[in-house]
Amino acid sequence: MQQWLFNRIDTLKGVGAKTSEKLADLQLVTLQDLLHYFPRTYLDYSQLKQVRDLQAGEFETCQVSMVRISSKSGFYGTGKKARSCILVSDDTGSLEIVSFNPYIKYEFRVGRKILISGKIKKTFNSRYLQMENPVIEDAEASQHLRTGRIVPVYGGKKGLPKNLLRSLIFQILTLYSEHITECIPADILASNDLMARADAYWNIHFPQNADLLDKARKRLIFEELFLLQCGLLSIKEKNRKLNYGIKHSSDGELVCKITEKLPFSLTDDQLRVLREIKSDMEDIIPMRRLVQGDVGSGKTAVAAIALAKTVENGYQGALMAPTEILAQQHFQTLANLFSSFGCRVALLSARLSRKERGLLLDAIRNHQVDIVVGTHALIQEDIDFSALGLAITDEQHRFGVEQRAKLKAKGENADVLVMTATPIPRTLALTVYGDLDVSIIHHLPPGRKPVRTLLYGFEKREEIYAGVLRQIALGHQVYVVCPLVEENENIDARSVHDVHAELSATWLRGVSCGLIHGRLAPDQKDRIMQAYYKGDISVLISTTVIEVGVNVPNATVMVIENAERFGLAQLHQLRGRIGRGGNESFCVLISDIKQQNIQERLAIMTECNNGLLLAEKDLQLRGPGQFFGHRQHGLPDLKLADIIGDMDVLLLARRAALDVVQDREIPLELQQAIECQLAI
Ligand code: ADP
Ligand code: MG
Repeated sequence: MQQWLFNRIDTLKGVGAKTSEKLADLQLVTLQDLLHYFPRTYLDYSQLKQVRDLQAGEFETCQVSMVRISSKSGFYGTGKKARSCILVSDDTGSLEIVSFNPYIKYEFRVGRKILISGKIKKTFNSRYLQMENPVIEDAEASQHLRTGRIVPVYGGKKGLPKNLLRSLIFQILTLYSEHITECIPADILASNDLMARADAYWNIHFPQNADLLDKARKRLIFEELFLLQCGLLSIKEKNRKLNYGIKHSSDGELVCKITEKLPFSLTDDQLRVLREIKSDMEDIIPMRRLVQGDVGSGKTAVAAIALAKTVENGYQGALMAPTEILAQQHFQTLANLFSSFGCRVALLSARLSRKERGLLLDAIRNHQVDIVVGTHALIQEDIDFSALGLAITDEQHRFGVEQRAKLKAKGENADVLVMTATPIPRTLALTVYGDLDVSIIHHLPPGRKPVRTLLYGFEKREEIYAGVLRQIALGHQVYVVCPLVEENENIDARSVHDVHAELSATWLRGVSCGLIHGRLAPDQKDRIMQAYYKGDISVLISTTVIEVGVNVPNATVMVIENAERFGLAQLHQLRGRIGRGGNESFCVLISDIKQQNIQERLAIMTECNNGLLLAEKDLQLRGPGQFFGHRQHGLPDLKLADIIGDMDVLLLARRAALDVVQDREIPLELQQAIECQLAI
C-alpha cells in the first residue's frame, strides 16, 4: 500500500493545527484527499505579452523587471490604504503597478525579474499604463504557481489563505509524484491512448498546457470509471466463484398451484423473466438479479412465484418494500395467494407492539413463518431467519448497494432478486447495477388501454373536477396528488390539506374524500388505504406516498396539482397507479406555470407513455443527481466523471474492466486503487 497517501496533511510544511481544522471542514485530511481535490476551474495566465502590446481593459500577463518602488498612503478606492507604486519594464516599454500589499518592497528588490497578471488600466495622471493589484510572482524562482501559467483554482473556504491549496498540492506532487504508481495495466493504457498516472496528477493540478490538461482529465475520468467498473464486476465475479449458494429443485407443486391461482395467465415477458430467475435459483451460484419492468408490468406475480419456489424447497422468503403502504399491500396479495396452501405469510409492520414483534421474530427464527413481508425494518439487526432462501427487494431504486448487501447477509448466500420500475437507461444501469444480472419485462399485460394524459392550466379546474364527478358516477375511483403536506409560504404550490378542504367544500361536495400523506401515523395511513382498496373512499387526496406500487385497478383518474413540481420519471410512476384495470383512464396534469421549458417538459408526458424514454429525457433535463437522488444509488460519488457526458468513456472503461476482471489476475496496484475508490 502506498502509505504516504494516508499521511495527514499536517505532516506538510506550513500546516498547523488551525489550518488542519479548516481543511478538515472541506473533508481534506490525508494527502490523498488533497491529491483528489481537483481544481474547480483554471485561469489561463500562460500567454506572456510584451509591455508594448498590452491593451487597456484587458487582463494580461507579462514578465518584467522591477525598476523603482515607492510607498504612498492616501485615499484610494473606497478607503485609506497604504499602497506601493512600482515601475516595471521589459525591452519594449514600462508599466506602473499599484499594489496594496505592504510587504511587496521586501519581497522583490529592484532589478528582480517578476511575472505579473492583472487588468490593464489607462489613467489620466500617468504616462504609463497601470496594472492594479496584480498577482506577482518571482520569475527567477524555480517554480511559479500563480501566474505565467495555467493556474488551478480550488474551491476554498473562508479563512484559508488564497494560495494555500495550490502550494500544498504542489508540495505533495513535488515530494511524492515519483511514488504515484500506475494502476491501469499497460496494454489498456496504450489501447486507450491514456496518459501515465503521475503525469495526469501533475497536469490536472498544474497543467503545462491546455492539451496536456485535456489528456490528464481524460485519463483520470477513465480511471475513475474503470475502477468503479472493476469494483462492481469483481463483486459479481466473486459471487460467481462462490459455489455454495442454495440449489433449488425444479418446479414443484406449490409453484404450479400459485401460478394457477393467479387470476390471469402470465405474459410471455413474465414467463421469460421467471425462466431466468428459476435457472438462477436452481444453480449453485447465488442469484443476484435485477428485474426491470415499467409500472404495472406485473412484477409482483413474478415475485410471488419465485417465493413459492423457495418455500416449496423448505426455505423462507423475504419481500422488502420501500413504504409501509406497499408492504401492507404485498402482504395482502401474498396472504390471499398462499394461505389456502398452508403457507404462513407474515407482515413485519412498524405498527406491531413490542410484544407482537417479539413473537413474530421468534416465529421467523424458528421457521414458523414461510414468507415475511416488511419495509426496511426487515434488515434491522435483530432479525434472524431460520433458513432464508430468497430475499426480494421491491422498487429497488429506493435502496442502495449497502442495503441490499445487508438483506443478503441475513441468509447464508440466499438468492437475491431486486425489482425496479425506474427504467434506467442502459448505460446508467451499467454503473449503478454493474454487480447484477438484469432481466427486463418489456410489455405490459394485454388488455390495458394506455392512460390518456392531458395538460391544463389552473383555470380549467372546475371542468376537470366535473369530469372527475362523472367517473365517480360510473363507480370508479380517483387520485388527486399534491406536492405538499402543508401550505408553505416559501413554496408556491398546493398542499393536500388545502386541496382536501377546498374540494370537499366545492366541486366534490358530498363525495367521500380521503386524505393521506407521509406524516400520518401508520395505523391512520392503513385505515385510509384499506377504505380506498374497499371502495369506501372515492377520491384519495395524497402526496407522493402513493408513488410506488399501490394497486387499485378500479381507479381511473389521477389529477396532479402543481405538476411542474415533479420530475418526469416521478410523474410516470404516479401515473402508473391508474390504467390498471380494463377501463379507459385519464391523468390530468394541472400547472399554471407558463414558462416555455416547463410547459414543454410537461407536454412530453402527454405524448409519451414509455417509461424508458421518459427516464432518458428526465436524465437529460435534470442530470443524474436529481434523477437518482444523491443517496439512492448507494455508489461513491464520482469526482470528475459525468455519467451522461462521459458515457462513451464509460463504455470503454467497462470493456477494459470486463477484460481485466474476467481474464486476468488483478494486479496488486489495481486492487488497491479499486479499494480506495469504492471504499470497500
Ligand atoms: P408492477 O410491476 O408495477 O409492480 P403489479 O405487479 O402491481 O405491477 O401489476 C399491475 C397489475 O397488473 C395488477 O393489477 C396485476 O394483477 C395485473 N397483472 C399482472 N400480471 C398480469 C397478467 N399477466 N395479465 C393481466 N393482468 C396482470
Ligand atoms: Mg410493484
